[in-house]
Amino acid sequence: MNAFAPVKAPAVGCGDAPVLKQRGQREVFCGLTSIVWLHRKIQDAFFLVVGSRTCAHLLQSAAGVMIFAEPRFGTAILEEKDLAGLADANEELDREVARLLARRPDIRQLFLVGSCPSEVIKLDLSRAAERLTQAHAPQVRVLNFTGSGIETTFTQGEDECLASMVPVLPQTDAEQLLLVGALPDVVEDQLVGLIGQLGVPVVRALPSRSADVEVGIGPNTKFIVAQPFLGATTGALTGRGAHHLAAPFPFGEEGTTAWLRAVADAFNVSPEKFDEVTAAPRARALKAIAAASERLNGKSVFFFPDSQLEIPLARFLTRECGMSAIEIGAPYIHRDLVGPDLDLIAEGPVLSEGQDVDLQLDRCRAARPDLTVCGLGLANPLEAEGLATKWAIELVFTPIHGYEQAGDLAALFAKPLKRREGLAL
Ligand code: SF4
Repeated sequence: MNAFAPVKAPAVGCGDAPVLKQRGQREVFCGLTSIVWLHRKIQDAFFLVVGSRTCAHLLQSAAGVMIFAEPRFGTAILEEKDLAGLADANEELDREVARLLARRPDIRQLFLVGSCPSEVIKLDLSRAAERLTQAHAPQVRVLNFTGSGIETTFTQGEDECLASMVPVLPQTDAEQLLLVGALPDVVEDQLVGLIGQLGVPVVRALPSRSADVEVGIGPNTKFIVAQPFLGATTGALTGRGAHHLAAPFPFGEEGTTAWLRAVADAFNVSPEKFDEVTAAPRARALKAIAAASERLNGKSVFFFPDSQLEIPLARFLTRECGMSAIEIGAPYIHRDLVGPDLDLIAEGPVLSEGQDVDLQLDRCRAARPDLTVCGLGLANPLEAEGLATKWAIELVFTPIHGYEQAGDLAALFAKPLKRREGLAL
């Protein structure tokens, strides 16, 4: 086989496969979790959760304690009298924000983050954000989004956050590419570097690392999404007249190549130039995947819905690592985004959206997959039943996009199988 053969879709893919829709009990983290990586990415932002002590505990334990720097997230705790409507939560919020901004002049963007309690008492954080922007502009821009667990999964927090930024982006007619999704800086730099080598003149990222980096949007903006959970952001950008470049997600050699090719095609990059730029990193990625995926070859995998990365990762595991997928569960299926990945997955696996956790556990136990990808709450019980599991949330906190991370991505899935082999000795 030619190592650089073009991406070839299976005779029948999963693009038109029936979807098992489940609406029962779910086992997922809430959107506040995404603050953990967003506050690292947007380096002059502060995330102020308007919530309860539970929200504060979740955030503190998920993000850990910063020793050398003041944290750029916090919780304005709603007390019982707020929840009972006996106090004006808006007045208290304004006071807390003024105190915070006076103490922290480094903050340029403030996100008010809604939670279950703030939604239950119908605290209007969008009006609060407008009011506070007027009070603190131009030094600070105040936006709001929800991270509540009432109807979300944890990666949706990033989607809500980025979507909240789109309406305030300035208008531009410049021809440019916008890379959408909060990637680790090192990964973003690698991808932007490759795109620059292809000859695409202007590449911007959303979110940018600082409010000082001007990101405009307009009819000559083409955008490509790096994370499959950014459905609302995609809708908001399209609403501003930008053009979405649909592509498989940049996981593995094949996914990264197809993703970059969508950019190359949109900016009229010649096939020769494309091959010249991508040949060396593609070869490195293929070699790294071959070494790391030996243990995965011929094994089966079952995905519980959790991070919303499930469909592109199933494509990577089935096409590049020799695995077979039994069930691919996703909290939401944004077809505009994951359609190209679905087309590349050969028919066969059950495709499920949403969750009824007990029914899904029954299906998983009956199938006895070699590897189960699931949330933290399910992993330990399944391990105790003899199944090898991978924590889905680890895939969000680890750099896994692009050619240089392709081997590490395969290795992440191989690790639980190695551990279980060790236990069986
Ligand atoms: S937002 Fe809701 S689900 Fe998340 S920590 Fe707060 S109360 Fe819990």
